[in-house]
Amino acid sequence: MERVLDPARIEAFAERAIARIRLPDRRQAFSRRAARLRQLSASERAGEGGAIGDYLRLMAVLADAQQSALGSFTAARPNAEALRLASTHGMPPAHAAGLTREPSWRGILGELCSSVLESGELPAAVRETCERLRGASAAPLEAQADALLGGRVVELDPAAAPFLMGALQVYWLGLATQFTPKEIKPLEVHGVCPVCGTLPVASVVRVDKGSCGNRYLHCALCATEWHMVRITCSCCQETKDLTYHSIEGGSPAVRAESCGSCRGYRKILYQEKDPGVEPVADDLASLALDVLMGMEGYHRLSGNPLLWLELAAH
Ligand SMILES: [Zn+2]
Ligand SMILES: [Zn+2]
Repeated sequence: MERVLDPARIEAFAERAIARIRLPDRRQAFSRRAARLRQLSASERAGEGGAIGDYLRLMAVLADAQQSALGSFTAARPNAEALRLASTHGMPPAHAAGLTREPSWRGILGELCSSVLESGELPAAVRETCERLRGASAAPLEAQADALLGGRVVELDPAAAPFLMGALQVYWLGLATQFTPKEIKPLEVHGVCPVCGTLPVASVVRVDKGSCGNRYLHCALCATEWHMVRITCSCCQETKDLTYHSIEGGSPAVRAESCGSCRGYRKILYQEKDPGVEPVADDLASLALDVLMGMEGYHRLSGNPLLWLELAAH
């Protein structure tokens, strides 16, 4: 007799076998990032240069402030009707460019700026930016947030953008953790975050519990991770003509995955080579790889949420 498996059971088995969605851990998402930024800044100091090391340390201060702001923040979950509409239209439930933000994100921004200002010695330009942001009125801040979330880079103040993005990350991470993985459905557009619709900063091949060596894309805004099969372009889904690039003498845990079809690239991190990899931090600390990729004629598919300058400026 032929054994027929119920499709629902097959699906349930597949769901168990692969964690398709990994929601961020609000107890330590930003503190882990801060620790990683500090660790990477220390190894940077041992190498050449130093400017990127200083920047990594400043972003570590910001990430610690984010963790502490998140501790007292509760996001309002979108109501049932909004969730039903999003699901009907195949939209993410907390769409960054579509959701009405509550003014609380500006309170978070004020907290972040105060924490950075109190952290000690700062370059004058950073101090001035944080003081300016802390005293800014609602309208220009909302306009900058719209430009950030809408990807309109030319409208941004690059010095202020990492702090604004820092506050929006706290807000959206708070929102993402209002859901359970089961409630988050994979989108038809596979290259964007299924919680907030933002592009990924990088991808990571995980070997920790529940991930079974799978590759995940990491959201630049809410830090949700979603599964994507390996050796597939995270932009155009092409599976042929992918190449992996690394810097000679650089970390074996960080490579760039380039696509011959769309000529784009994103970095891919390997937890088996370094268990501490963190997508935002490791991407930011490997700017030399971006320079190499630019020279080889590939374009970056999406930016780092903590750096809004043209790479040519470095
Ligand atoms: Zn997201
Ligand atoms: Zn591609």
